[in-house]
Amino acid sequence: MNIDPACIFCRIITGELPSHKVHEDDLFLAFLDIAPMDEGHTVLVPKTHVNDILTLPAEYEAALGSVISRLGARLIQATGTASLNVLSNIGARAGQVVHHAHLHMIPRYPGDDSLNWTPGESSQEKLAELARQIRGY
Ligand code: 5GP
Ligand code: ZN
Repeated sequence: MNIDPACIFCRIITGELPSHKVHEDDLFLAFLDIAPMDEGHTVLVPKTHVNDILTLPAEYEAALGSVISRLGARLIQATGTASLNVLSNIGARAGQVVHHAHLHMIPRYPGDDSLNWTPGESSQEKLAELARQIRGY
């Protein structure tokens, strides 16, 4: 486990700062967001300091999917809603403020607006070219 004493999430992991924990295992900790976008807004973090979820060590990467599934089911059961946003902000333009890998798991309720995501436009040619670039062949 790599801990950065200057990192707010590392300080929560070590117990130096308090949090309202909703899940803990050997590799991950989840706690309620201090400024929730909606009731039950949870932050899921690896118990090691890495910048974002694209740079997780292999054992964390391998375990992440099952933690999301189990915690997501718990959140849905506990809040009584059927809707949940699961997302990660990676980099400043995506809204990342805390530079310790994390996923937001946000229960959503009747009457909520969807996330601020305005559908755009593209052409089939542009989509095909972008897909080729991303695939790398
Ligand atoms: P980001 O914008 O980096 O994806 O999100 C960081 C999240 O961490 C924010 O939603 C913010 O409210 C939450 N957060 C920041 N500091 C603390 C804290 O000290 N305790 C808790 N529980 N959440 C925090
Ligand atoms: Zn950290």
